[in-house]
Amino acid sequence: MTRPIAARISLDALSENLSRVRDYAPGSGVLSVVKANAYGHGLLPVAGALSDSDGYALLDLDDALKLRASGFRQKIVLLEGFFSIDELQAISENGIDVVVHSVEQIDMLASGRLTGKINLFLKCNTGMNRLGFRPDVLSDMLCRLGNCGKIVLMTHFSSADGEEGVSRQMNAFDAATASMGFPRSLANSAALIRYPETRADWVRPGIMLYGASPFPEVKAETLGLKPAMTLVSRIIAVQEVKAGESVGYGAMFRAERPMRIGIVACGYADGYPRHAPNGTPVLVAGRLTGTMGRVSMDMLYVDITGIGSAGIGTEVVLWGAGLPVEDVAKACGTISYELLCALASRVPVTYY
Ligand SMILES: *Cc1c(COP(=O)(O)O)cnc(C)c1O
Repeated sequence: MTRPIAARISLDALSENLSRVRDYAPGSGVLSVVKANAYGHGLLPVAGALSDSDGYALLDLDDALKLRASGFRQKIVLLEGFFSIDELQAISENGIDVVVHSVEQIDMLASGRLTGKINLFLKCNTGMNRLGFRPDVLSDMLCRLGNCGKIVLMTHFSSADGEEGVSRQMNAFDAATASMGFPRSLANSAALIRYPETRADWVRPGIMLYGASPFPEVKAETLGLKPAMTLVSRIIAVQEVKAGESVGYGAMFRAERPMRIGIVACGYADGYPRHAPNGTPVLVAGRLTGTMGRVSMDMLYVDITGIGSAGIGTEVVLWGAGLPVEDVAKACGTISYELLCALASRVPVTYY
């Protein structure tokens, strides 16, 4: 037997989650966000499962070219655009759309001797203060664009998942773009679910496609989403510890009573967060229990004191089916996105 860890990815869950996006935003084109190796799920298999998308959004030109080489004809958008003039010919020849967010990019477009045109997503910074032109210069930038094909106006929200909401940014975007008459793209997962007014021409869902909730207080299930990735492993050793004994590096956990502890073949080199505290939820033989002690590079500890049937070989679910990745993330003080994206390349991935 090989080391028992694996990430099992449900292609049906991905395509069903895409159907939920269609339910929420029936009038919008869907750009499925597949950046970061499709949030850790694997670019090409995910793109295949999501082939009903109207397009894909990602970061690297190489990945965009891989999609084209694999026969994907949908729109492809580079969310950070291009970084040097050398990329423009391949972008144009392969019909790839680019986000344009800086004057430097506009200058490169104007000076590149292109044989074809490039479709642009012109990005407006309405308050995120990450990428984009401020609303008051947007129309100047439109006038300076050369060598471009179709134009979409876009912005990105800072707080669609939180209390602040989208209204301030939405108003700024509306005011800047109302008279321009181009298609528009605003919404990530949180915005397209919660704020119908943001759906517009193109929505850009990411996390919801992978079956995790974008909202801290709402379960994915409630939103009709199914987790795509289940990270599983097995118990490879059992220790009986006495009251007062400690477990693992730094003796971070100390038993107050006799306990049975399962050693699981999953560590931070697999992508499990090292800062997971004692009691981070985990499923052992389908039963909810908690981690204990500090996560090692290759192993972690789970409490199996109350699970008599658990022993060497028992299956452990770290997150996914039966244990939302959001719950694990919350216990670790992070978000589902970080855990999913951090899945290590050494973890074998299977698709079903
Ligand atoms: C990552 C990203 C998205 C997707 O966000 P989710 O919260 O995962 O839905 C959408 N738009 C842009 C610009 C992004 O960078």
